[in-house]
Amino acid sequence: MAKHITIPKKFVTIFIVTFFMSNAMATTLLPPNDIADRFHNDSETIKIASSDFGHIVQEIPAAVFYPNSIDDIASLVKYAYNNSVPINVAARGQAHSTWGQSLARDGVVINMTSLENRLNGSGIIVSSDSSLGSYADVGGEQLWIDVLNTTLQYGLSPVSWVDYLYLTVGGTLSNAGISGQSFRFGPQISNVYELDVITGKGEFVTCSPKEKSELYYAVLGGLGQFGIITRARIALEPAPKRVKWLRLFYSDFSAFTRDQESLISKNERRDNKALNYLEGMLLLNQGPQDLSFYPVSAYARINSLVTKYGIIYCLEAAKYYYDDRESRVEKELLDLLKGNLGFLPDFMFEKDVTYMEFLNRVRSSELFLRSKGQWEVPHPWLNLFVPESRILDFNSGVLKNIILKQNIPAGIVLIYPMNRNKWDDKMSVVIPVEDVFYVVSMLHSSGFNKWEAYDNQNKEILQFCDGAGIKVKPYLGHYETQEDWIKHFGSKWESFRARKALFDPKMILSPGQRIFNNN
Ligand code: FAD
Repeated sequence: MAKHITIPKKFVTIFIVTFFMSNAMATTLLPPNDIADRFHNDSETIKIASSDFGHIVQEIPAAVFYPNSIDDIASLVKYAYNNSVPINVAARGQAHSTWGQSLARDGVVINMTSLENRLNGSGIIVSSDSSLGSYADVGGEQLWIDVLNTTLQYGLSPVSWVDYLYLTVGGTLSNAGISGQSFRFGPQISNVYELDVITGKGEFVTCSPKEKSELYYAVLGGLGQFGIITRARIALEPAPKRVKWLRLFYSDFSAFTRDQESLISKNERRDNKALNYLEGMLLLNQGPQDLSFYPVSAYARINSLVTKYGIIYCLEAAKYYYDDRESRVEKELLDLLKGNLGFLPDFMFEKDVTYMEFLNRVRSSELFLRSKGQWEVPHPWLNLFVPESRILDFNSGVLKNIILKQNIPAGIVLIYPMNRNKWDDKMSVVIPVEDVFYVVSMLHSSGFNKWEAYDNQNKEILQFCDGAGIKVKPYLGHYETQEDWIKHFGSKWESFRARKALFDPKMILSPGQRIFNNN
């Protein structure tokens, strides 16, 4: 992010008053003196804060706020709340959202990363006690890569991850935080003991399942609607050393999903024989494949397999090991895989990597895409949770009949199952009601004038599911109207709305989600 220029306090105050007066017609309050110089509005800062990783939605804020402390954030929110015309406020992690969720039109965007250097230079503190065991107290602005690097110094690690580690803790906990570990350890929100939150009234509250639990459950998966997470206490376990990482190819979708579901049925947290990670992805006969995982000698036969079938389903599994006894983990993996797995026998690929290499696996793709200028492009993503009972219909109706037939290069498509019992229904996030459901992530990248083709395809997919009665729930989604959100939340809407009235009664937080401010 570009360095911001310090603007003399006088100009900032004049700017804020002028801006909010022109937009809100009647503004009676000035920001308190102690935070007046934290607002910035130079054109570069505003430009950056007007857009996100999606590069589709643009919303111009009045100012960007660079807090030096948690108290600064509380003062800002109090100021925004008490203003005669309340001011919208959005916490911005890394703005890795794709549909404007971290933006705030005419409001104030909080640049959370400016908190990075608080707590004596570290926003990540590792501790343990007799009731919780090991845990890390982590600032909401921290990146998961930094959490990993710090906890590894203590031989410890969180258990539930996201695929890409340059996301913030506050940002992923506001959604769910899912990856291949979720089937066994639950999403990241299932691994949080306690939170510090600044509510929409500017109140600082510590909450947990036992204390102020309503706020705790509201905030986790709460899309930033109830408060700004300034600290999360994250569960830690001993860190593995290395990882056996497998990819198995299938031409038959039923065999692929049957094997995925069978593998995730072994999911006790303490069962050392269970897999640590399971995902899946498509190899599509559309444009170039990323074959970097595979030996060069296999490229030709992989390409001809994909050409032959149009779609190949790739099951991706990993087993961690904690010492150097590679032979034992080999045996455990063989025990898990032996028997009736239906993958194509000549298409099993294996790697042995460090734990860090495994968790940080997306970074090399990011750096590659950045070097080609293909990272900062539109990302018309569609992420869906699909009920297990309809996943075969989803394959034929969406993967084969829409994505494969339309033949616009699909980018990365992930597909893997999760166990509902690893999620806590008291939290705000909405998932299908079945015991097992799939996440299907269509992670498109497009040219700047070409994202509409993907958006149209996304709409067609949603229409197909609606018409076929496949009750999908978007993850990281966006809607045009509040009616759509009400439908999304279903039976949870009433409690979501009531919690909003309790914790953010003037509806100023995270307006970019367009749940309560969608005009
Ligand atoms: P932002 O986009 O900045 O914010 C997201 C929302 O949370 C906004 O509404 C914002 O106002 C609010 N918010 C931000 N910080 C806070 C806070 N401290 N307190 C309260 N509200 C806050 N997601 C997964 O679950 N699994 C994945 O594997 C995964 N992989 C990804 C890979 C890439 C390359 C990208 C770009 C995204 C991926 N995501 C994944 C999505 C990611 O979880 C979301 O983009 C999420 O929003 C986190 O991004 P962020 O930290 O930049 O948050």
